[in-house]
Amino acid sequence: MRADKFAQRLAQVSVSATLKVAAEADRLRRDGYDVVDFSAGEPDFPTPHHVKQAGKEAIDANFTRYTVAAGMPELREAICGRYKADYGVDITPSEVLMTVGGKQALFNAALALFDPGDEVVTHAPYWPTIPEQVKLMDARPVIVRTASTDGFAVHADAILAAITPKTKAIILNSPCNPTGALIDERAVGEIASVAARQGIWVIVDLCYERLIYEAVPHNLPKVLFERHRDRTVLAGSASKAFAMTGWRCGWTIAPTALTAAFNMIQGQTTSNISSITQKAALAALAGPQDAVSSMLDEYRTRRDSIHAWLTAHPSIRCVKPRGAFYLFIDITGLLSPDGIKTTAEFAQALIEKAHVVVTPGEGFDAPGYLRISYATSMEQLREGANRILKLAESIEPARAGLSQ
Ligand code: PMP
Repeated sequence: MRADKFAQRLAQVSVSATLKVAAEADRLRRDGYDVVDFSAGEPDFPTPHHVKQAGKEAIDANFTRYTVAAGMPELREAICGRYKADYGVDITPSEVLMTVGGKQALFNAALALFDPGDEVVTHAPYWPTIPEQVKLMDARPVIVRTASTDGFAVHADAILAAITPKTKAIILNSPCNPTGALIDERAVGEIASVAARQGIWVIVDLCYERLIYEAVPHNLPKVLFERHRDRTVLAGSASKAFAMTGWRCGWTIAPTALTAAFNMIQGQTTSNISSITQKAALAALAGPQDAVSSMLDEYRTRRDSIHAWLTAHPSIRCVKPRGAFYLFIDITGLLSPDGIKTTAEFAQALIEKAHVVVTPGEGFDAPGYLRISYATSMEQLREGANRILKLAESIEPARAGLSQ
C-alpha cells in the first residue's frame, strides 16, 4: 500500500484561523454557554425580500438547469449596469464572468495568471485567502505592511518598492478585511501607472465596495480603467452588499481574453454558478438598492457604538474603520511577558473566561490586534463589549502605568 501523499502544492498552504475560532465557538455553544460571537465574516441580516422572491420564482419556473458557464447574459449585463451607475465606467458582458463568490473570482485570477516562482505583491494585515491562493499556485506572496498609526493606509511607494523583475501582479483589497481601511484613489493611480509601464497585473478585491460609510472618493474601477485597463482584474461579490453569503455569487471584470481564460477554467471545473442564485443576483443587482443603504446605516451605528465603548479603555486603540464591518483593535497595551503574551492567547482567554469569540490578529499576519465583526445585533455588541472590557480590566492592574 502506498502511503497517502498529497500534492506538493498543499504543503505551504494553511488552514483558515477564522475556521478555528468558529469551531471553538461551536463547541461552547453545544456545551450550553451563552456565547457572544464577533467572529462572523458575514452580514447578520436576511437576504432582502425581493431577492429571495426571485430565487423562489426561479425554482417554481424550473429555472434549475445549466446556464452558460460564464453566467446568463442578462446577469452579466446587470453587472455592467451596476458599475456604470456606481462608477460611470463602461463594461461589456464579455468582460464579466460570474463566480462562486469573490473567492472563486480571485482563485480564477490566480490560476489563470500566476506561474511557479512568480511574485505577487499584496498588503498586510490581509484576508488570508489572498496570500494562500498565491501559494497554491506555487507563486510567492510579497507582503507590504501597513500600520495602524496612519489608519492602515496603503502607500503607493511601499507597494512599488516591493516590485522586482519577478512581480506578476499586485493584489489590493479595499475596503480591507480585516482593517476596514480604504485605499486612496491617488495611491491606486500611482500603482496603476507603474504597473502599466511594467506589464504587471493589478487585481482589486472589491468584496466590500458597497460598505463604505462616508462619501469619500473611492472610484477605483475608473482610476484603473483610465490607466491600466488591459491588465486590471476587479473581483466583486454579492455576499456582503446584499447579505447573500450562502448563495455564492461573485464576479470578475477583466479584459476579454482573460475572461475567456476564466471561462475555460470554469468550464472544466465548476461550470456556471447556481441558476437559482443567478436569478436572485439579477434582482439584487438590477433592482432597488435601498436594502443596501439601510444595512449600511445600521452597520454605521453599530460601528460608532462598539468603537466608542471599546476605545474608552485606555489600553485599547483602534482607528475608526471607513468600510467593511470589522474593528481591528490594537491590544498590545494589554499584553505582557508575565501575563497574556499574545493576541492568540488573549482571544483564547476571551473564549474561556468570557465566552466571547473574536479572531486574533495572528490569522491576518498582524499580531497585537483582534478582529471584531460588528455584523451582529446591538445587544450582542453591548454585551460582548462589556465582557471584553471586564477581561481587560482584570489584567490591567499588572500593567498600571505602562499602558497609554
Ligand atoms: N474578499 C474578502 C476581503 C473577504 O473578506 C471575503 C469573504 N470573507 C471575500 C473576498 C469572499 O467572499 P465571498 O466568496 O463570499 O464572495
